[in-house]
Order: sequence, then C-alpha cells, then structure tokens
Amino acid sequence: MAFEGLADRLQATLQKIKGKGKVTEADVKEMMREVRMALLEADVNFRVVKSFVNTVKERAIGQEVLDSLTPGQQVIKVVREELANLMGGESAKLEMSKKPPTVIMMVGLQGAGKTTTTGKLANHLRKKQNKTPLLAAGDVYRPAAIDQLETLGREINIPVFSKGTEANPVDIAKEAVAKAKEDHNDVVFIDTAGRLHIDEGLMDELKQIKEATQPDEILLVVDAMTGQDAVNVAESFNEQLGLTGVVLTKLDGDTRGGAALSIRSVTQTPIKYVGTGEKLDAIESFHPDRMASRILGMGDVLSLIEKAQTNVDEKKAKELEDKFRSMSFTFDDFLEQLGQVKQMGPLDELLGMLPGANKMKGMKNLEVDDKQLVFVEAIIQSMTKKERETPEILNASRKKRIAKGSGTSVQKVNQLLKQFSEMKKMMKQMTNMQKGGGKKKGGA
Ligand code: GDP
Repeated sequence: MAFEGLADRLQATLQKIKGKGKVTEADVKEMMREVRMALLEADVNFRVVKSFVNTVKERAIGQEVLDSLTPGQQVIKVVREELANLMGGESAKLEMSKKPPTVIMMVGLQGAGKTTTTGKLANHLRKKQNKTPLLAAGDVYRPAAIDQLETLGREINIPVFSKGTEANPVDIAKEAVAKAKEDHNDVVFIDTAGRLHIDEGLMDELKQIKEATQPDEILLVVDAMTGQDAVNVAESFNEQLGLTGVVLTKLDGDTRGGAALSIRSVTQTPIKYVGTGEKLDAIESFHPDRMASRILGMGDVLSLIEKAQTNVDEKKAKELEDKFRSMSFTFDDFLEQLGQVKQMGPLDELLGMLPGANKMKGMKNLEVDDKQLVFVEAIIQSMTKKERETPEILNASRKKRIAKGSGTSVQKVNQLLKQFSEMKKMMKQMTNMQKGGGKKKGGA
C-alpha cells in the first residue's frame, strides 16, 4: 500500500510523544528531527520538508500547545493539520462549466495512465453526477492509443469521437467540442498525445489545443510511483500550460508518497483525483485531510462509509438487519453480503482505512487474502438450499460432499460453520444491545 513506510515511521515517532503529560521544546525538536528524516526518505521534496518542519515546530512549540492538558495529542493534531495543508487542505473539485459542454483536457507523459484515467473519470462523472461525457481521441501519433480509447469507450458505454491518425489533433479537439454541443454531451474529455519526455513539439500542440478549445480543466496525469520525477513533470506542465489539477495514478503501487505530499506545494496545483488500480472503478476524489489521517493511522472512516454507501444497497442492508434480529440470517444472505463487501475493493485496502488497523497486534503480518473469500463462496455454493437455510442438518456425509464439491476440506467446512454460528450469536448480542441503548435514549 502507498505510504506504508512513511506511515510506520511517523506513527512510531508520534507514539512516543502521544501520551506525554508534559512536552518540552526539546521533545518537539527531537520529534521533528525524526519526522524530517521520515519525509525525506519518503522522497518528499526537500524544500517542502524544510518548510513543513518549520511550520509544525513553530506551532507546536507555541504556549497553547505545550501548556495544554494533553500536549502530546495537541502536537499530533498540529502534525495532522499541517500534513493536510501540505496536500492542499480542502479537497478540490472539478470545475463544471455553466455553459455545457465542460471541456476537460487530459495531458501527461506516455505510460502515466492518461488514457485509462480518462475512461475512469468519464465513467465516474456519469455514475456520480449523471453526466453524459464524450471522449475525444487526440493522440494521433500512436494508433494503439486510439484503439485503446475506443475499446475503453465500448466497455463503459461512452461515445468516442475519433478521426483516425491522419487528422490534426487541434481540429479533432475543436470538432469534438462541436459534436458534444450537437449531441448534448455535457462533458468532453480530450485525450491528448503523450511522449516519453517533455518536448517543445508536444507543448506547442497542447497550447494550440488549449487555445482552440478554452478548456475548463487541464488535468495532468502523473504516475505516483515516479516520485520526484512526477513533481518535476508537474512543474514543467504547469509553467507551460497552466494546470487546473493533477490526477495521481498508481497510488495502489508501492509508492513512498513523496509525489502526493510535494506536488501541491511545489506547483500550487491541487491533486483532484487519485488512481488506485487498473480497474475502471479504481479512482477516488482526493481529500487531503482524510489522507493525512490515513498516513497517521487515524483511519479514514469517511471514505469507508462512502464506499459502503456506493456499493451497499440500503434496502437490502435493512432487510439483513431484520434477519439478524429475528435470527433468520442464512448462508444465502451471507453469500449476498460477501458479494457486496467484495465490490468495495480489496480487503487490505479497506482495512487500511480503519483507525489504528495497522497498529493492531498481528494485523500487520496478517495477509488479508481475498482468495479465502473464494473458498468461503465455493463452500456455500456447494450446499443445497435446505442446508443453507438450516445448517444444523449438516452431518458427516453432507460435509464430505460439500468439501469435495468446493475443492476444500471437511476441516474448512467445519471452520466456516463455526464462524457462521459465532457471527450469528454476536450479531444477536449487538442488535440486542442496540435495542437496549435505544430504549434508554428514548426514556431520557
Ligand atoms: P497513457 O500512456 O498515459 O495513456 O497510459 P495508459 O492509460 O495506457 O496506462 C499505462 C498503464 O498503467 C496501463 O497498464 C494501466 O492499466 C496502468 N494504470 C493506469 N492507472 C493505474 C492505477 O491507478 N493503478 C495501477 N496499478 N495501474 C494503472
């Protein structure tokens, strides 16, 4: 996961100061020396580190922090706020034009993930904001790029405007905007050419497209894995074109986090989205405050709730709750619930959003293996309808049959049965507790 090394280091450093009833200037300075090292090792731009450390030091050594009742926690609060400020403070949204179509120009070097991100964003806007995007294939130098966009378009069912490799990219961009007006597409994404390096020819072409289409957004797509190079690329593109935002891709990879933490400060351009995987739904709005909490192990419950809201059908959730209450929750319900959890993304990513999850004993080395879920599903699918509803009837021969059918073992089947019955018990206790709590509240 991204930021892992940085998160570990910062959390270990802050842990030392957390519970202190008295914090001295020397404590803060010592802590900031370690924070500085951690940030530099995470490949954060050195100027950014210097200014960050100075700001935190100044605030943390302030009297109201050191003299407060919980100075250790106040210092951590300052670190969290400044980390969020470093990444832009508030989350930055896409500017939508009052006079549609909104024109979004996508720029970036080859391989950064520009074409994939164009598809992801268009899909995201359609799903989340009911937009009707049009994609324009402007990378005329690589036939494969046009094919890729067309394939993507078909996959997500979004139209692609393309004129092959012979046309001029500036004309393609202009005509795509006109076509969007005609067809009532309210957003046009212009996928532009990428090169391996920034060169004058590319920049000239991008400037002409900008001039001709007057885009509402110019989004630079950069690969987080490239660290400081990503920051340099952002700086050059911004100087030449004037960016309105950055999309940082491959945050799911083993990035140290340097790019995410430096881009905003160095370029004054906000990160608007992050790419978190190869799949088309692996894109998230970027929230500096939530990211700061995640890095400091405070979890990101808000993003977790949003993920749940997007993927879990509320009516079904209510039905499940009723089933828990009445103890009529069956293996079929369990299977359905598993499906919903799986849609939310890989389990270790979800765990990473829970406060303190990476500090929990054993959690760190616990490989959260999505494959285990496949076995669970296979076992349940090998049960008959009656068995799923009343697992009590499962005798030795039935268990043997299920183990064989699911390619597992009787031991695994037994394990699942035990877990299922414990889960039911626990759910009953929890719902009873909730009921009790509700009464109390009502009575007060
Ligand atoms: P382009 O040359 O900038 O248009 O790059 P592409 O869109 O073709 O992407 C290059 C590669 O990066 C492809 O294999 C993508 O699947 C992959 N990619 C793009 N975004 C992400 C991401 O957020 N995470 C991961 N893991 N891979 C990504």
